[in-house]
Amino acid sequence: MAEKSKKKPQDSWSQMSTSDIKASEKFNAGYIDFLNRVKTEREAVAYISEAAGSQGFKELDQVKNFQPGDKLMIKFKSKAAALVVIGQEPLDKGVNMVVSHIDSPRLDLKPHPAYEADGMAMFKTHYYGGIKKYQWLAIPLALHGVVAKKDGRIIDICIGEKESDPVFTIADLLPHLAKDQMEKKMAEAVSGESLNALLGSRPLNAKDDEAIKARLMNILEEQYDIEEDDFTSAELQFVPAFAAREVGLDRSMIAAYGQDDRVSAYASLRAILELEKPKRTALCLFVDKEEIGSSGNTGLQSLLIENVFAQLMHMAGRNDYFSLRQALANSAAISADVNAAVDPNYPEVFEKMNCSFLSRGVVLTKYTGSRGKYDSNDANPEFMARIRKIFDDAGVVWQVGELGKVDIGGGGTVAQYIARYGMEVVDCGVALLGMHSPFEVASKADTYMSYKGYLAFLQNFI
Ligand code: MN
Ligand code: MN
Repeated sequence: MAEKSKKKPQDSWSQMSTSDIKASEKFNAGYIDFLNRVKTEREAVAYISEAAGSQGFKELDQVKNFQPGDKLMIKFKSKAAALVVIGQEPLDKGVNMVVSHIDSPRLDLKPHPAYEADGMAMFKTHYYGGIKKYQWLAIPLALHGVVAKKDGRIIDICIGEKESDPVFTIADLLPHLAKDQMEKKMAEAVSGESLNALLGSRPLNAKDDEAIKARLMNILEEQYDIEEDDFTSAELQFVPAFAAREVGLDRSMIAAYGQDDRVSAYASLRAILELEKPKRTALCLFVDKEEIGSSGNTGLQSLLIENVFAQLMHMAGRNDYFSLRQALANSAAISADVNAAVDPNYPEVFEKMNCSFLSRGVVLTKYTGSRGKYDSNDANPEFMARIRKIFDDAGVVWQVGELGKVDIGGGGTVAQYIARYGMEVVDCGVALLGMHSPFEVASKADTYMSYKGYLAFLQNFI
C-alpha cells in the first residue's frame, strides 16, 4: 500500500513565504490606517484621489489625450471613483477591471432629524443597508458627512473620531424592563423608528420650549455654520466611532467597521497604484450604493461603467458605437466583494465543503443569489479556469466560497450589473466574520492575498 500523501496545508499562513508575511504586515498596517480614516463613500473617494494623485494619476478632464502607461482618475459626485492605467493594447480589445463598493451599512440622519423628548434632544435615523438593528445600540457612534448650503458651500462634518470629540449613542432598554421585548422575534425587538440617537440634554434657556434643541442648534450654527433647515440638504451618517483593531493573541486578524467592502477597495487601490504600462488597460472602479441595490447615479445599475468607457473611447478618437460595445464586451472583471467565513459559533448555516474559511486565502465565488441562484451572476467556467491559472501562477492562496447553505438566505453583488455588457466577471474577495456588523473580522493573510490576486489579474489577464 502506498504511503498516504502528506496533507497539504489549507491555510494561507503556512503557504506564505517569509517575504510574503513581511509584506502582509506592511500591507495590513496601511489597511488599518485606511479603515480609521475612511468610514463613508465620500471619505473613500477623497483618500483614493489623494493616494492616486500622489502617484501621478491625473483627473481625466485635465488631459486631452493619453498614451500607454498614462494614469487617469475620474470622480463621480464625490461618491464613486475610477482609476485607469492605460495599457499597450487598444481599448476595444477590452480592459481588466476590478470593481469594489465603498458604501457600508450605517444609520443615516432623516431630513428633519432633531426633536426633543423627556428632557433630551434626539436625532432620528433611517438605516441604510442590511443591518441587525440591535447591533447598533449601546455603542459609540460618530457622525460623518456633508451639509450642502443654499449658497453652494459644502460643509464637512466629522464628529466623534478624535479622542477629544464627543460621541453619540442609541441607548438600549435595560434588561429589568425588557421582559416583553425579550419575548419578541429578533427582527422585531428593535424597531427602525426607535433608532434615535442621543444628542443633548442641557437647555439653553429653561423657560423656553425646546430649550435643549435650541442650545444644540446654537452649537451647530456657531461651530459649523449649519441651521436646522440645512439638514434637508445634507448627507449625514452615524457610523461606529471605534477604531480598527488587531484581533487575537497572535494578531492574525483585523476587526473594524466597514470592511465590507472597503477591504476590496483598499486592496484593489494598492494593486493599481503599482501598475506600470500593463498590456491591457487596467481599471479600478470604486462604487456607491451597493448595499441598497446599486441604485442611484453613483451605483452600478446606472450607466456609470458605460459612461467611463465612452469617455475613454472618445479621448482615444474612437467615437463609433460598435467600438464602444466591443470594448465593453471584450473586457474582463473581478467583482471584488466579501463573502461569509464559516463561523464556529454558527456552523449550522454553512456547508463546509463549499463555504469559505478565515485565513484560507481570497475567495472565488462562482455565484451568489438566493432561492436557486436568483439574481446571481454565475461566472463562466472557462473564465474561472483562467483566473485559477493566474492566481496559481502568481502564488495567490485562494479558496472557493458559497454564501451559506442552500435556501438558508443569500445575497448579491454588483457582478450581475457588470455581466450585462457581455464581459466576463466573477466575484472574488475576502471572507469575513460578522459581515454587516459594526465590527467585522477579516484575516490579515486573506486581505493581503486579495491584493495579490487583484494585482495578478490586472497585470496578467490577456
Ligand atoms: Mn459587499
Ligand atoms: Mn454588504
